[in-house]
Amino acid sequence: MGRYEFLKTLLRLQDLDLQIESLKARELEIPKQKSKFDIRRKRLAEELTEREKGYKAFLFEQRECEVEIEQKQGQIKKYDQQLYAVKKNDEYLALLHEIDMLKKQVSLKEERVIAIMVELDDAKARLEEDRKRIDAELKEIDRQCSMIDAELAEAVRERQRLEAERGPLAGQVKPELLNKYKRIRTSKGNGPAVVPLNGEACSGCHMRVPPQIVNELLGGSQQHVCNYCGRMLYDADHYSIGGTEA
Ligand SMILES: [Zn+2]
Repeated sequence: MGRYEFLKTLLRLQDLDLQIESLKARELEIPKQKSKFDIRRKRLAEELTEREKGYKAFLFEQRECEVEIEQKQGQIKKYDQQLYAVKKNDEYLALLHEIDMLKKQVSLKEERVIAIMVELDDAKARLEEDRKRIDAELKEIDRQCSMIDAELAEAVRERQRLEAERGPLAGQVKPELLNKYKRIRTSKGNGPAVVPLNGEACSGCHMRVPPQIVNELLGGSQQHVCNYCGRMLYDADHYSIGGTEA
């Protein structure tokens, strides 16, 4: 292995690590896109329940009216029969008055039943439309969520592929160098641990590197770390990541 090979391998490893890192960040971010859909889904379900409640209220009132009409008609029948048994005139008139009242109440309820039937037709049509619209929107939400799931699965697959590649590559880096690299990465909260010179500055922290060290790096004779940020420095001309030349 040539003089630059170790660092070259380390740079390839770092490239993999940075990609793995950004995929991990995406794996955390992607599922968050689904939370707005969860909220929308809940709202749609609430809306549908509300619409159904309105429709059911009409049905309930219709049944109540029918029961009341039946009870009052039963009462009228009873009073009709009592009319034959009543002896006194004022009792007879009182019963007739009761019957008359009940009949008026029945006809009011019957009018209401007819009005409800008309309203029920409208409410049913509206409910059907609401159901269709809500259903279509839910399907669209499902479609978008499965796209998000697919995106997440793709990120996981890609990360696993890179991680499989990483193992053998890490084995090719000298243990001391690998440890140093790991230490710097940990202390920097991930991000690159090996950075190229940018002119005469460290591209990690942008501080000036002493001329002698720059010369040694350009000459490729020595390895150095930045005095300010502690990252390993290299001259980009000597190393091209993923390049084929050795
Ligand atoms: Zn630096």
